[in-house]
Amino acid sequence: MSCPRVLLVLLVAVGCATPEPAPEAGIEETPFGTLPDGRTATLYTLTSPSGMQMQVTNYGGIITTLTAPDRDGRFDDVVLGYDTLDDYLAETPYFGALIGRYGNRIAQGRFTLDGVTYELATNNGANHLHGGLVGFDKVLWTTTSFTTDEASGLILTYTSPDGEEGYPGTLEVTVTYMLLPDRRLRITYEATTDQATPVNLTQHSYFNLGGPASDTILSHELAIAAEHFTPIDAGLIPTGERRPVDGTPFDFRTSTPIGARIDGDDPQLAYGLGYDHNFVLTDSSTTMKFAARLYDPSSGRVMTVHTTKPGLQFYSGNFLDGSLTGKGGNVYEYRSGLCLETQHFPDSPNQPSFPSTILRPGERYTSQTIYAFATDAE
Ligand code: BGC
Repeated sequence: MSCPRVLLVLLVAVGCATPEPAPEAGIEETPFGTLPDGRTATLYTLTSPSGMQMQVTNYGGIITTLTAPDRDGRFDDVVLGYDTLDDYLAETPYFGALIGRYGNRIAQGRFTLDGVTYELATNNGANHLHGGLVGFDKVLWTTTSFTTDEASGLILTYTSPDGEEGYPGTLEVTVTYMLLPDRRLRITYEATTDQATPVNLTQHSYFNLGGPASDTILSHELAIAAEHFTPIDAGLIPTGERRPVDGTPFDFRTSTPIGARIDGDDPQLAYGLGYDHNFVLTDSSTTMKFAARLYDPSSGRVMTVHTTKPGLQFYSGNFLDGSLTGKGGNVYEYRSGLCLETQHFPDSPNQPSFPSTILRPGERYTSQTIYAFATDAE
């Protein structure tokens, strides 16, 4: 039974009803299909006392479902994705996936480190994107699930062998998804290596706070805590500049509808086909800080992003074109989902003025991002 809160309080006060017990933190496993090499993938369903539910598969660490309440308390799925493993295997623009070793682009798939030049797999024109041909979004992760009184979580580990997709060193990676109280999803990334190598791990969920089958994200309002962004060239590679957002369509310091300026006459928007840019949250701090707030005026849903990472890629779903049919038969039209990928700046291994992404033996890569959900009725 679901009752408006005021009514429920009244009913309980006169002894007519008992409040629904909050759901317990839990995690369940179901088979999710078979990979071409015969290995099987599992789907994990995590529940939280806050009522949120998240489904994750160990194939690519993909978040397939994430629910959040609207202003009337109605939970809906707010991420894009597919119903079956076969759909993910057939074609996906990284829906919900874990991204590594390097989120975003490395120019020409090449970088020089300690005097050695490394050639990476190129999978985006001449450039390397999101870890290459078989990035962390396409591998089967090893998992351990756990619950506490208040939270449910999934630990995913993967050993990336020396030379994978052209990268040096064996990289041991651990990512922990945790559904915390107060409708928070916390993602913790950790890695160690036996040779110096670039690392930039992120998560590629496409959000539409209107729920499944809703319109584009153009009426969502977005705020980003960035004074600068990193302009790109026609290949979406940063030029190396940090440009003030002031007076540009990239100024999201005050919450602004995404559609308000997206089709403006701006060379940067032309290169990105809309927003597909890295925003500078900080150049040096590694403490948890506010990065962005996304608001859907029609449902009242609000999502805030906090992270320890220095950058945020705001990608407005410009390559969605109606050719992919997702969960429940919904067709993913142009700009029907958006990504807010917490990250180091793109092409950092070739950009000496950007914060370093090089991990060395004996060091531990750690970063954390929290996506929190609320409504405008709270
Ligand atoms: C990038 C886009 C890319 C997309 C792939 C985003 O992270 O910024 O340029 O097309 O991933 O789906």
